[in-house]
Amino acid sequence: MIENPTQALALLDELDIAAIVCDNNGRIKKVNQSAQTLFRLFQPSTELVGCRLIEVDGLKSLVSLDFSAPFYEGALFKGLFCRVRLKPVKAGGIIYTFEDLTDFYAHDQLRTDVLSMVVHDLRAPISAIKSFAELATQVGPINPQQQVFMDRVQLAVRSANLFLNDLLDMTWIDSGASLDRQPINIGYLVQSTAESLEERAKSHEVSLHISISPDLPVVQGEAHRLERVFTNLITNAIKYSGKGKSVYVTASRASNFVTISVADNGAGISAEYLPFIFDRFYRVPGEERRKEGMGLGLAIVKAIVEKHGGHVEVQSEPGKGSTFMVVLPIEE
Ligand code: ADP
Repeated sequence: MIENPTQALALLDELDIAAIVCDNNGRIKKVNQSAQTLFRLFQPSTELVGCRLIEVDGLKSLVSLDFSAPFYEGALFKGLFCRVRLKPVKAGGIIYTFEDLTDFYAHDQLRTDVLSMVVHDLRAPISAIKSFAELATQVGPINPQQQVFMDRVQLAVRSANLFLNDLLDMTWIDSGASLDRQPINIGYLVQSTAESLEERAKSHEVSLHISISPDLPVVQGEAHRLERVFTNLITNAIKYSGKGKSVYVTASRASNFVTISVADNGAGISAEYLPFIFDRFYRVPGEERRKEGMGLGLAIVKAIVEKHGGHVEVQSEPGKGSTFMVVLPIEE
């Protein structure tokens, strides 16, 4: 807890660390010299003191941060990548510090670009394998053993495609690209995404129940990214519950938020693994052999939801099931 924010800002200036202080409503109260220098390039014409974070394009993502993580990293303004730390001020408000990691991320950007190129270039040969494997079974009689092999090829192609899609999402997230925000009918998006997975639920002998409040407001965001979020959560619920179980998809409004929840009465996740399930490539021990997946689905869910200014919550009890809740802000 910071006792004296003015002193803290001056000390941080001595150390050449950019810092700002905001009140409890997210209004910027103080900006130290280092922060002025850092932000001047990206926000030359606006006096930051007096603005609300939400009004400054490069800083609005700070609004959704909380004190639970040691730090956050991400693109603030275009071309400025920072590690952000925040601490509460005793008399009220928050002090934010900014470490400029842009140079470091320039190398990372190269890695991301190469990865994204490789992923794109792999799509064509993989879809060629898929098409020719289908054609091979159509051009003449094949024996049952060959049919089994062809089915295996199709399964392998499906896994490769799922993995490529996950990698594509990760490269987009790492690129720090901002969202192309459009008004979204969130109720319709959740409903149609859930309906598109009804066949999959049937094939796993899972019953899918959808209940969407009729009065949901419009949410600002990128529809196909949010569709990925709901697809990943519903697919997981189906995949990790299994025969005879149920999955419930609901969407409702609570004050300034829309909450979309995906609940199942499947195996659940034990408390010791819960803190890690949103990490990249993390899979609960044992799942590697039992279920298809690479451990990227929930990391993608979390990153996309946070880019929309929201957050994800999970409650789970082994033997009883799991509930994942996506909370998205409504911008009136
Ligand atoms: P993947 O499904 O590819 O393993 P995810 O990132 O989607 O990766 O999920 C991470 C881990 O969290 C999974 O390996 C699984 O063990 C666990 N998990 C996710 N959703 C559920 C769920 N609905 N029920 C039980 N476990 C789940």
